[in-house]
Amino acid sequence: MAVYNYDVVILGSGPAGEGAAMNASKAGRKVAVVENYSQLGGGCTHLGTIPSKALRHSVRQILQYNTNPLFRQIGEPRWFSFPDVLKSAERVIAKQVTSRTSYYARNRIDIFFGTASFADENTVEVFSHNGVLERLTAKQVIIATGSRPYRPADVDFNHPRIYDSDTILNLGHTPRRLIIYGAGVIGTEYASIFSGLGVLVDLIDNRDQLLSFLDDEISDALSYHLRYNNVLIRHNEEYERVEGITNGVILHLKSGKKIKADAFLWCNGRTGNTDSLKLENIGLKANSRGQIQVDQQYRTEVPNIYAAGDVIGWPSLASAAYDQGRSAAGSIVENDSCRFVDDVPTGIYTIPEISSIGKNERELTQAKIPYEVGKAFFKGMARAQISGEEVGMLKILFHRETLEILGVHCFGYQASEIVHIGQAIMNQPGEGNTLKFFVNTTFNYPTMAEAYRVAAFDGLNRLF
Ligand SMILES: Cc1cc2nc3c(=O)[nH]c(=O)nc-3n(C[C@H](O)[C@H](O)[C@H](O)COP(=O)(O)OP(=O)(O)OC[C@H]3O[C@@H](n4cnc5c(N)ncnc54)[C@H](O)[C@@H]3O)c2cc1C
Repeated sequence: MAVYNYDVVILGSGPAGEGAAMNASKAGRKVAVVENYSQLGGGCTHLGTIPSKALRHSVRQILQYNTNPLFRQIGEPRWFSFPDVLKSAERVIAKQVTSRTSYYARNRIDIFFGTASFADENTVEVFSHNGVLERLTAKQVIIATGSRPYRPADVDFNHPRIYDSDTILNLGHTPRRLIIYGAGVIGTEYASIFSGLGVLVDLIDNRDQLLSFLDDEISDALSYHLRYNNVLIRHNEEYERVEGITNGVILHLKSGKKIKADAFLWCNGRTGNTDSLKLENIGLKANSRGQIQVDQQYRTEVPNIYAAGDVIGWPSLASAAYDQGRSAAGSIVENDSCRFVDDVPTGIYTIPEISSIGKNERELTQAKIPYEVGKAFFKGMARAQISGEEVGMLKILFHRETLEILGVHCFGYQASEIVHIGQAIMNQPGEGNTLKFFVNTTFNYPTMAEAYRVAAFDGLNRLF
């Protein structure tokens, strides 16, 4: 058995693994990454963030073509199949793999393709896809093995019409009717994608409100627009049985309802990828969701073993995973790059897009903070009218006495970009973080960013 010696060995090449690998390597450590998929990039690139965002982009282009009167000169509205839009996602994935692979090569990071497990706390064994066993020794190990869809035992995922968010990328046809079970971020994003392709979607929610962590007004707006696009949202429902039939699925709900569709997409929960790691060999135990507990330095209970990304649970976002991985490596190399990632913006790529940072109205009211609201509706803004993107709103919540910005909530075109302007201002020290910035600063015109100026004036006008 071949043995290789490293300073830091990283398990997984998603955003958490990549952030960790780059930081450790730039600090002069000898680094190896073990990846059990056949290409680099992690679940993020191959199954999660990238394919879903590329699919959504194509769907939005189709919607634009079908609704913009300009395009009627060149043809009638057209519908595209799911496999058609999947092809464009595959092109993006290939480009991402190429760029990410080059980062590792440029930073002289060794890659081992195979499944990693612990022999002891300084030894990782890699069982490669062609059956070869290799052994890597490491002073430190960072676990960045991500997560996968949770699969309850009573749902038959071998049935050809029952999918989860990984296997949906193998869907070879466009269903006429689709049941999406689970109305979290992934479920609502896929509801937007499929309804944009003209599929009738039943979105089954265990709760009484969509994405209840959002500002109520934004959550209501999302429900309105999903319904407008033919998504039937069914709140407070739980499955009793998922029955796979020939060419379809019948969902039996505990409430007594039965729903029939051509396909069923399970989007209810995820589990950490820890089962193949042989954690027992290092005295570590994952929780019931397969997640590993870490401290604010991303260190596990075993002093030289760290963990980052989806495998540690919240927030389970690629955005945070990269910073967590980078921070885990920062804590190993003891430079100033370790920070505990707890202030994460929300970016939800539904149609319309949603993004927010800071507190929402419910939280501020509960905390009895005297806040005021400033709003800008996209329908009145020049850039939105030019782009034909008039659905949306920016809402700034600010302290009515100090004018400090307490929260920024946005839905509509470019929401996930727009929110970063608010985030940057909220992070300014002292009086830099007030509404005054937006009224005393000249913005490019016409832009979507101008919404901040409009919302700031609207908010100031409410003060007395
Ligand atoms: C449909 C969907 C849409 C999403 N959209 C967004 C979004 O828009 N924005 C956002 O920020 N986040 C989004 N996410 C979440 C995001 O994809 C994850 O948070 C992110 O991928 C986590 O990164 P990671 O590095 O922890 O793990 P991953 O990206 O999952 O990478 C982990 C890698 O480790 C490998 N691995 C597992 N076990 C082993 C082992 N024993 N040995 C070697 N390798 C192993 C896995 O195969 C995988 O390649 C989405 C997720 C899904 C499912």
